[in-house]
Amino acid sequence: MTRELAKGYEPHDVESRWYAEWESKGYFAAAATSEKKPYSIVIPPPNVTGALHMGHALNNTLQDILCRWKRMQGYNVLWMPGTDHAGIATQNVVERQLAAEKKDRHDLGRDAFIERVWRWKAESGGQIIGQLKRLGASCDWERERFTMDEGLSKAVRTVFVKLYEDGLIYRDNRLINWCPRCHTALSDIEVEHEEKKGHLWHIRYPVAGEPGRFVVVATTRPETMLGDTAVAVHPDDERYQGLIGKMMLLPLINREIPVVADEYVDREFGTGVVKITPAHDFNDFEVGLRHGLDRINVFDESGVINAAGRQYEGLDRFEARKRIVAGLEEEGLLEKIDDHGMSIGGCYRCKTVVEPYLSLQWYVRVAPLAERALAAVREGKTRILPKQWENTYFDWMENIRDWCISRQIWWGHRIPAWFCDHCGEITVAMEDPLSCSKCGSDEIRQETDVLDTWFSSALWPFSTMGWPDKTPELGTFYPTSCLVTGFDILFFWVARMMMMGLHFMDEVPFKDVYIHALVRDAQGQKMSKSKGNVIDPLTVIDQYGTDAFRFTLAAFAAQGRDIKLAEERIAGYRNFCNKVWNAARFTLMNLQGFDPARVKLEELNLSEADKWILHRLNETIRETDQALAEYRFNEAAMGLYQFTWSEFCDWYLELTKRDLYGENQERKVVARYVLWHTLDHLLRLLHPFMPFITEEIWQSLPKAGARNEERGTRKFEPRTSNLEPASIMLAPYPEFCESLSFPEAAGRMERVMAVISGIRNIRGEMEVPPSKEIAVILSCGNEESIQLMKHNEGSIISLARISDLAIGMDVAKPEDVSIQVAGDVQIFVPLKGLVDVEAEIQRLLKEIGKIEKEIEMFSRKLENPSFVDRAPADIVAKEREKLVEVAAKKAVLEESLEKISKLK
Ligand SMILES: [Zn+2]
Ligand SMILES: [Zn+2]
Repeated sequence: MTRELAKGYEPHDVESRWYAEWESKGYFAAAATSEKKPYSIVIPPPNVTGALHMGHALNNTLQDILCRWKRMQGYNVLWMPGTDHAGIATQNVVERQLAAEKKDRHDLGRDAFIERVWRWKAESGGQIIGQLKRLGASCDWERERFTMDEGLSKAVRTVFVKLYEDGLIYRDNRLINWCPRCHTALSDIEVEHEEKKGHLWHIRYPVAGEPGRFVVVATTRPETMLGDTAVAVHPDDERYQGLIGKMMLLPLINREIPVVADEYVDREFGTGVVKITPAHDFNDFEVGLRHGLDRINVFDESGVINAAGRQYEGLDRFEARKRIVAGLEEEGLLEKIDDHGMSIGGCYRCKTVVEPYLSLQWYVRVAPLAERALAAVREGKTRILPKQWENTYFDWMENIRDWCISRQIWWGHRIPAWFCDHCGEITVAMEDPLSCSKCGSDEIRQETDVLDTWFSSALWPFSTMGWPDKTPELGTFYPTSCLVTGFDILFFWVARMMMMGLHFMDEVPFKDVYIHALVRDAQGQKMSKSKGNVIDPLTVIDQYGTDAFRFTLAAFAAQGRDIKLAEERIAGYRNFCNKVWNAARFTLMNLQGFDPARVKLEELNLSEADKWILHRLNETIRETDQALAEYRFNEAAMGLYQFTWSEFCDWYLELTKRDLYGENQERKVVARYVLWHTLDHLLRLLHPFMPFITEEIWQSLPKAGARNEERGTRKFEPRTSNLEPASIMLAPYPEFCESLSFPEAAGRMERVMAVISGIRNIRGEMEVPPSKEIAVILSCGNEESIQLMKHNEGSIISLARISDLAIGMDVAKPEDVSIQVAGDVQIFVPLKGLVDVEAEIQRLLKEIGKIEKEIEMFSRKLENPSFVDRAPADIVAKEREKLVEVAAKKAVLEESLEKISKLK
């Protein structure tokens, strides 16, 4: 039954072989209906333009761990995959291609452009799906969706029509954030704010008809003065009572504008007089509404001054700023310029400075939707973990503003609204209308705007399962069990899924939202192309293998703490993979001809070491399960690492060798069974973290029953059955087992191990070569200890390499011994004969001589005034530290010399 494993673990061949096998056998497939309990996760759909980065790698590794774990626990698991059409991002990609051909989208026209985007998608979009497969993601790929496929488009249209009919979608002419490069509106959260240094220009506004009299207003954006339609003061500001109601002369333009009184004005800021530009500032827009002021838009859609800017028409906004400031200076109207720090909003796609811009857009009235989404989290129907994020969610939802959903691009879901040229009515319908719903005119035009990309992804948890149809998938898998995501899309996406899910499904979209941290570089810096500190997941996978990489991510995924990723860490976990591999090779070599089906664990006469490893395995099972249930991925991974490396490999494999290689046939059977049992369980525990290496090894392990070749049935039979699953993916996840709990035996074994460690410490301190056997005396505090040590003396002798072991009660301490204490056992190791005394004395003398030279060198340097006075303080301090260090080293060596000299 056993198949030999290759000498070293070669990840690439193993990975591609097993992934293809799993996928072709349908092991990732979810059943639409099943007797089994459902478990479901929808993938945060990566952009169709995307390439796998560290964020994706972490996000999808965690999801895969959960899905594989739950599948092995016997759940009917759906991991729903797909990609997002990513409106602006994708349009940008194709526009860049066109630009290289010296064309723009208008040269092609709308239909041809969209066709071109689809072609791009078919040819080079979605490469990230293949990359997720390399990561081992066990998504149900046959269900893969795209936010613009037919079914999802139908869901989008249904939602739009329904919200419009419910009065939750409306159109309004107001200020929005506008990207002058992308030529589209942006929602508030699509604007990235950055603190920048700017200026505050203080400008004199003359009072109309009173030559020589003026007030000073301050602004950070002087070009917007072209659109001023008032000047405002606080109604209670005594300085300006006489001014209210008068007219001012707008500099350079010489247009008359009124002085209004409004409580919005901060009397303490600047002079207490502010200019009001309702078409280009969010606060001024509100002031304008209160006072019935005109809105003068001075920009075109590219941020170029339009006709309203008179002599500045045709200038880019920043060029206009320069000319206006120069013009003011010439006319003596510039009082002063101060430096001024401020927050500047940039487009999240292209970083262009965003302009508040007056335009007619579509909005979702979110307040009624937000109310339910808030309540659902307050009532615990959805948990957000770690808990601190709940407050962030509450804050945002309580202050939420209406959501601007229209975008002036072509790639996306075109808004299903038709304007009537005849009567002005808007017709919104499920089917494309042929005539106006009010007057019947056929002169109707469809809205040219498309919907915000996040509108379709807000429906993802139910649209991917076939909504608006009533599908069995919705019945089985909605609400989903968990959403795994980064905090950066908590508002873009999570909050909106909550609102839409509750409104359309009348139930929350997920029970848990697990928010994971960011992957940063080793210094804790954000990875970015410009800093050159990006680690590419695919390069890492090529170099170290997928399993090492996944295990690293899991091991560092502590809740609420960013991951500082250095390549050395991944290299470290590759060593872990090799450790597992070598342990498996050792085990398999010792299981030749072994048939576990013929052995019954409950009938075995287990040794203390056997009971100890079974007990520790059992505890590890319990801890892993608890940690995963609470999304403490790092604790689960570290617990498994510790158990595998220290307890199984370093201790048990050594302890069991005597039985494996010994003559006692009964002991041999027990040792082989426990070895097989532990490795088998360990592989299954590790599988969700390291899917490939565990499958490769597990396939070579002897099985307790016949192989079940049934294709993708996911039928788990308990180990007593004759049918064995065909893949570790289908094997049951280990469960805590009361009858394999041996706390007392394990405690006793640990006392023995402490003694062995104590002897090993002495060997290390005295630098005894590993091949040399030594004499040891154990002085026990009581009879029970003596029995315990005697009972395990074989293990002690072989693991600590002892020639002569004496065990007694309260043995008087002999002279010239090295001592260690382990519980009530004192360990004495006679030094005589342990080391070659003369050689050791010579070695120590030589070492001490070297150190003395170093001390002299540092001392001389530090006594030299020209060094101490001239060198930088931190360098001098470092030299002093070094001196202290070597002096301490010398003291240790001298102490050893003194000890060993006594043995002569
Ligand atoms: Zn932009
Ligand atoms: Zn009409």
